[in-house]
Amino acid sequence: MVSGMEATAPDALNPTERALLERYLTNLDGRVFALRNLPEVVKGALFSRYSRTEKSLRRVLLDEFLVDPDAGISLDPTGSLPDERISSERAEAFYQRVLVGYGDDSVAELAGAHVAIERVSTLAAKALEDSRIGLSPLEKSTRYVRFDRPGPDGRFLYHRGEELRHPAYEPALDSLFRTFSELLTPVLEHVRHRFPQHEGEGDRAWKSATRAKAFDLLRGLLPAATLTNLGLYGNGRAFEYLITKSAASELPEVRALSGELQSELAKVIPAFVRRALDERYGAPAAARLEAVRRRLSMLAPPASGGPQGPEVRLIEHDPQAEAKVVAAALYPHSDLGWGELRAVGVEPARVLDALLGDRANRRHKAPRALEQAVYTFELSANFAAYRDLQRHRMLTQDRQLLGTGLGYDLPAGLAEAGLAGRFAAAQEAAARAQERISADLGQSLAQYAVPLAYRLRWFVSANLREIFHLCELRTTPEGHPDYRLAAQEMFRRVQEVHPRLAGYARFVDFSQADELERRSSERRIDEKLAQLGG
Ligand SMILES: Cc1cc2nc3c(=O)[nH]c(=O)nc-3n(C[C@H](O)[C@H](O)[C@H](O)COP(=O)(O)OP(=O)(O)OC[C@H]3O[C@@H](n4cnc5c(N)ncnc54)[C@H](O)[C@@H]3O)c2cc1C
Repeated sequence: MVSGMEATAPDALNPTERALLERYLTNLDGRVFALRNLPEVVKGALFSRYSRTEKSLRRVLLDEFLVDPDAGISLDPTGSLPDERISSERAEAFYQRVLVGYGDDSVAELAGAHVAIERVSTLAAKALEDSRIGLSPLEKSTRYVRFDRPGPDGRFLYHRGEELRHPAYEPALDSLFRTFSELLTPVLEHVRHRFPQHEGEGDRAWKSATRAKAFDLLRGLLPAATLTNLGLYGNGRAFEYLITKSAASELPEVRALSGELQSELAKVIPAFVRRALDERYGAPAAARLEAVRRRLSMLAPPASGGPQGPEVRLIEHDPQAEAKVVAAALYPHSDLGWGELRAVGVEPARVLDALLGDRANRRHKAPRALEQAVYTFELSANFAAYRDLQRHRMLTQDRQLLGTGLGYDLPAGLAEAGLAGRFAAAQEAAARAQERISADLGQSLAQYAVPLAYRLRWFVSANLREIFHLCELRTTPEGHPDYRLAAQEMFRRVQEVHPRLAGYARFVDFSQADELERRSSERRIDEKLAQLGG
């Protein structure tokens, strides 16, 4: 057998070259190696040039980047990391030349950045997370963090922009946060009484699990204006589109974030976000997106009510789905064309069993053949549940504006604690304020005043592979009951039309147990901490 090392054509590096390269590559002889200690833009440009030359990457790096002072790569032999900002600024013209000469739009996928975005409304966070390929978001959790603590000025932490100047706004939002604060202690006491500490259960685990349950019960009081923090990791191409698209938002807060994102990313991956807002590409694209939104909103018929309860409807599916999945499963193993394979009578049960019958846990991914079965659902669920489900990226979804017309969900656990009245009164007062704000400032801005308990409608088009993933992940017992219910209902709709296909998603959990969702996860954390010695 030939190992990776032996299979590599040697680069014939002399000792000086080896010493130079060592700092930037994880090995100098193997055929697989990683880049390190190089600014993001350099890595993107290097790969871009690499795709248009016969040279090895080591030779390109040596001959065309490290020796050229314009490339701005510090050759400081002390081995300290190059300063990304200085390197990138100095090297601007150099990289423009490389990218113009050897790159296309996809080169911007070769450089990435981590961005922290702080003190933004939950509404704006959702807009920034509404991206799929190329971006990975992670947002501060309403389950683990208290959101009702006031800021240094003593005021609750929610978005207060100039655009939201309205006499009903701050009183309504203050009242929601105050209700959250006032209910927290009685809710926590109730939860701890209802789910007492088990024998052998550590203090930390029990306290964390009961606290998470109390936060879960109360999160519906938080308005969409609640300030949150999020981390975004993404590649340059995805960031470029996010910046352009955010510049077209109807929300001034999101438009401002577009500019801030652009200027901060320009410090680390300048070559890849330059066009995001420029006169030639970005600005006209954003203006067009805004014009399209205006045109469509004038054409859309007015609202006429909606379901008054959580609901998941299957609005489209393909009656041929199973036959297509079977053909797609056999296709790579056959030399018949697609049409011929569809026409051959193969026993679907045998093919599906061979394809899926041995899945032992949800991490045994459903195979690509399942992407042939596509479903469209319409969901009506509370905004908090939407926030959780919207993070799934391998599907097509779009939502309607937040409002109070579809009603709100009252968590059963609050009624049990005798605290439903307080929660309901706060929700109803918020709805009255939101209606006034909507009448005066418009429905878009009034979204900020809508508490997370209120329902909205959205559609989801997804293939069966993603439905397996989403429904198996989002029905695990540690999940929040609201999104668990939505995922369970989505899956029931699939079972109704395609019972045999659905039968292979064995890890969708339909249990309705009224339990302490985080209990077993927290126990596992304790066990792992004990193994790690603290
Ligand atoms: C119990 C629980 C708690 C959570 N808490 C939080 C929280 O506090 N804050 C928060 O922000 N999120 C939270 N999440 C959401 C989570 O981080 C994911 O964003 C969300 O579940 C999307 O699922 P996914 O990434 O598995 O897959 P999807 O986006 O549905 O994609 C499907 C699959 O495609 C692949 N894939 C998609 N995109 C990429 C990519 N960029 N790179 C590599 N592979 C990719 C993966 O294999 C993935 O499993 C929580 C999820 C759960 C289940």
